[in-house]
Amino acid sequence: MKLATFTHAGRTAVGRVGDDARVSDLSQVVGDRTLLQVIDDWEDLGPAIAAADALTVVTGPRLCAPIQEPRSLYAVGKNYRDHVQEFGRSGYDHPNRSTDIPPVPVVFSKMPTSVTGPYDDIDPHPDLTSELDYEAELAVIIGHGGRGIHRKQALKHVWGYTIINDVTARDLQRQGQQWTISKSLDTFAPMGPWAVTADEVGDPTQLMVTSHVNGEPRQKAPVADLIFDIPQLISAISAGITLQAGDIIATGTPAGVGIGFTPPRFLAAGDVVECAVTGLGSLRNTVGNPT
Ligand code: MG
Repeated sequence: MKLATFTHAGRTAVGRVGDDARVSDLSQVVGDRTLLQVIDDWEDLGPAIAAADALTVVTGPRLCAPIQEPRSLYAVGKNYRDHVQEFGRSGYDHPNRSTDIPPVPVVFSKMPTSVTGPYDDIDPHPDLTSELDYEAELAVIIGHGGRGIHRKQALKHVWGYTIINDVTARDLQRQGQQWTISKSLDTFAPMGPWAVTADEVGDPTQLMVTSHVNGEPRQKAPVADLIFDIPQLISAISAGITLQAGDIIATGTPAGVGIGFTPPRFLAAGDVVECAVTGLGSLRNTVGNPT
């Protein structure tokens, strides 16, 4: 199933997305719950949502991030080999310009306040950065939480998947020597366009991650190319941190980001960034004008 969070007529609600991308209002099944609360109660609500019929199709919904306020939003740096190379060469991986494959997953967090909708503008924050970059990523949504999750059990803890653009202020990333601020400015986590349940996705290693800027292809790689795969990421994060339902893990970005070019190709006002993953739809965000 594909589930979305939408606003319509001043109300925010959860909907089921059909194969024709039309959104049906699930309020009669889930009440006023958010999608995060629906995932909390998935054992009861999942079958009811799947069985629901005679739902009202919403005319002209505005799609929001499927989970607007995740409890935790993890992300993973340097998780595709070609991107490790381009990032090291770029000099932005201050201070060591390393092109070595990381020995363990490079996990960081994006603040949940950075989340924005699948078609919303990206705020370019011109007072803080002049080096705005994009990173298309497959994102994992946790269902059953837990700590000490073994990699062999890890996929049982995955509720579903979505897409995140891990927008980054490269100058802040280089200056800060760690990544929280540079990747957490408001609107730096476009998410969606909806969440797709794990049973519908099947084997995530079969998915392809792509991005385009103003229609020009920039990134394209199979999820099978991840250095640390999804079970390894869940195992590594949960070793000492309790994962909770609705937590999100952005799994890393392939080569082809702006700093992979010489000279770098940063985003500018009016640029349109599209990030897509097979079967999950696509994000389409315009870099807004400085305000
Ligand atoms: Mg990233």
